[in-house]
Amino acid sequence: MNNLAELPVTALRGVGEKFAQTLAKLHIATVQDLLFHLPLRYQDRTRVTPIAALAPGVDAVIEGEVRAADVVFGRRRSLMVKLQDGSGTISLRYFHFTAAQKNRFARGVRLRCYGEARRGAAGLELYHPETEIIGAESPDRPDTLTPIYPLTEGVTQLRLRGLIQQALTMLEQAGVAELLPAELLPAPLRYPLRQALQYLHAPPAGADLAQLAEGIHPAQQRLALEELLAHHLSLLELRRENAEVSAPPLPANAALERDFLSRLPFTLTGAQQRVCAEIARDLSQNRPMMRLLQGDVGAGKTLVAAMAALKAIGAGAQVAVMAPTEILAEQHRRNFDAWLAPLNIRVAQLTGSLKAAERRTQLAAIASGEAQLVVGTHALFQPEVVFHNLALVIIDEQHRFGVRQRLELREKGAAKGVSGRLQPHQLIMTATPIPRTLAMSAFADLDCSVIDELPPGRQPINTVAISNERRDQVVERVRAAVAEGRQAYWVCTLIEESESLQAQAAESTASELSEALDGVRVALVHGRLKPEQKERVMGAFKAGEVDLLVATTVIEVGVDVPNASLMIIENPERLGLAQLHQLRGRVGRGSIASHCVLLYGPPLSQNGRARLQALRQHSDGFAIAEEDLRLRGPGEILGTRQTGEIQHRIADLQRDAHLLPQVQRIAASPLLTEDLRRLLIQRWLQNKPRFAEA
Ligand code: ADP
Ligand code: MG
Repeated sequence: MNNLAELPVTALRGVGEKFAQTLAKLHIATVQDLLFHLPLRYQDRTRVTPIAALAPGVDAVIEGEVRAADVVFGRRRSLMVKLQDGSGTISLRYFHFTAAQKNRFARGVRLRCYGEARRGAAGLELYHPETEIIGAESPDRPDTLTPIYPLTEGVTQLRLRGLIQQALTMLEQAGVAELLPAELLPAPLRYPLRQALQYLHAPPAGADLAQLAEGIHPAQQRLALEELLAHHLSLLELRRENAEVSAPPLPANAALERDFLSRLPFTLTGAQQRVCAEIARDLSQNRPMMRLLQGDVGAGKTLVAAMAALKAIGAGAQVAVMAPTEILAEQHRRNFDAWLAPLNIRVAQLTGSLKAAERRTQLAAIASGEAQLVVGTHALFQPEVVFHNLALVIIDEQHRFGVRQRLELREKGAAKGVSGRLQPHQLIMTATPIPRTLAMSAFADLDCSVIDELPPGRQPINTVAISNERRDQVVERVRAAVAEGRQAYWVCTLIEESESLQAQAAESTASELSEALDGVRVALVHGRLKPEQKERVMGAFKAGEVDLLVATTVIEVGVDVPNASLMIIENPERLGLAQLHQLRGRVGRGSIASHCVLLYGPPLSQNGRARLQALRQHSDGFAIAEEDLRLRGPGEILGTRQTGEIQHRIADLQRDAHLLPQVQRIAASPLLTEDLRRLLIQRWLQNKPRFAEA
């Protein structure tokens, strides 16, 4: 018998080239892929429910005899069929029907129906149930649960079920390779793979539907574990490939570093020193560093990045610093300039909004190597940007990138790197702490450094949630803070992606507030302003010439004004916890006690309430990230929900996080040979874009 992993779906009855292409959209190319295409959920059509025992909201099979079929004229014209069994009577209601359909329901005909009972005008009703007439040759009820599969256009449940039936018959004979040595599996999951697949495609009558729906049946967990392992192995594979690439070693330039540190008004925290040492060790090697730098907002990551940059610059090479937004790029440019210009280091900036002439000047400085550190947005990686000798790429805000973008960047970086086949080192900074479990699985290709200590003297931020119905009181708080010589932020949020709508909302809030707050100097900043306008407003706020800054979430990152001690966030329920934590981190930067008011629009959903509560309780970004993971799921945290990354077939990072330590343990075992590793990656990831899923 054939190896099902190699057997194309065209080997099945009824699958031609054309249909095979349709199946490819579901990432199904082989018979084995079909077997690993698992149901989303199940229906129980094995048992008949007496009509009298039907409960609203529950899917059920009923069997009975037609007593009447009449067209009734209520708010909408509909066909009502009265069905009776020994226990009671129920109405089937059809809003769309043909004369032929009506005629099918002749009095006395026996029907089997499947659908969900709902409360209607005439007691319990079934709306548009699936029906079949029970005759002499009608099929028996199934003796297994009915699987419901993920579909794509051109594939029906019925057709897919038929194909999977064929595949299951082949599985009987051919089996499926057990790639995981049984002794590596935790005891409750020592579940033969073949049996797990058979069970999940056709659970026996009486199987625990609730357990299956939750995805916690041992057969499901057995597969989830294998899938998570395959993803983990593919990231480890990336890491190994990386180890085979060369990079320019960047030894420390002690004099330059001493000079830099001696000019700082503070000393590095212990955590910053430790992380700097970890980075220094990587950079002195001749293979590319791939390191993730995590730290809570305000922990001082930029300074660590600057220390890394000095290693490259001190060795005569260039550094690129990539930021996700122009405002942040600008802020970094200013920081690095202030730190590095006194050391005679030239900092350049490359963003999308540069004027043509200025852009040409910058490009020339980058190409000649004159610009030693270049700050920019993704404009940095456009084809016309040529570096002289790029040895280090620093990426801020990694959580917005997935593995795929990380790979792309690395390749672009390689193309722009120092001569030959050398690749630049990469330091990736996250503005948002990533829960440990997630970091282990989604970033397994990276080494990780954590700054777990804030600079001394930070004041805790007092956070309160206040309903928009008490907006007046909040406005008064702003007045009082300003009267004491403090500054404040008022952040407007909108879910709409459109910057112009966000800008409009902020504009009207700004005029409302300047009207309400006599004598308070109000300014406005949003994404639609030109960079030089933004810079002017931010400059004025920093200089204390503005008391209240009304802003969209553009101020999320990078803004640093120690005298600002009050922040109002409108509609915080619309934002993720991590983003709120980032925003809030703009205050509490000086030595004064700071306050954050979450001005929510009632009524709050239960989840919304829980999120605001979490924010009030926790000031630690890592604790908040764990909470966010619990409340919203991994896609939101990694910022990949839209791009469809982290899409597992069966595993769910949130539900199955408890399996991740097992995954790591198994991946480290020598029992898992090279061959097995390759086959596992092939089985779970082969027909997907390479490493698209982390
Ligand atoms: P983040 O980790 O959020 O990027 P930043 O690098 O922006 O944090 O640092 C936040 C603020 O703390 C900056 O004003 C920075 O100059 C200051 N800072 C950084 N390191 C220290 C330190 N060791 N002691 C005191 N202040 C520090
Ligand atoms: Mg930062």
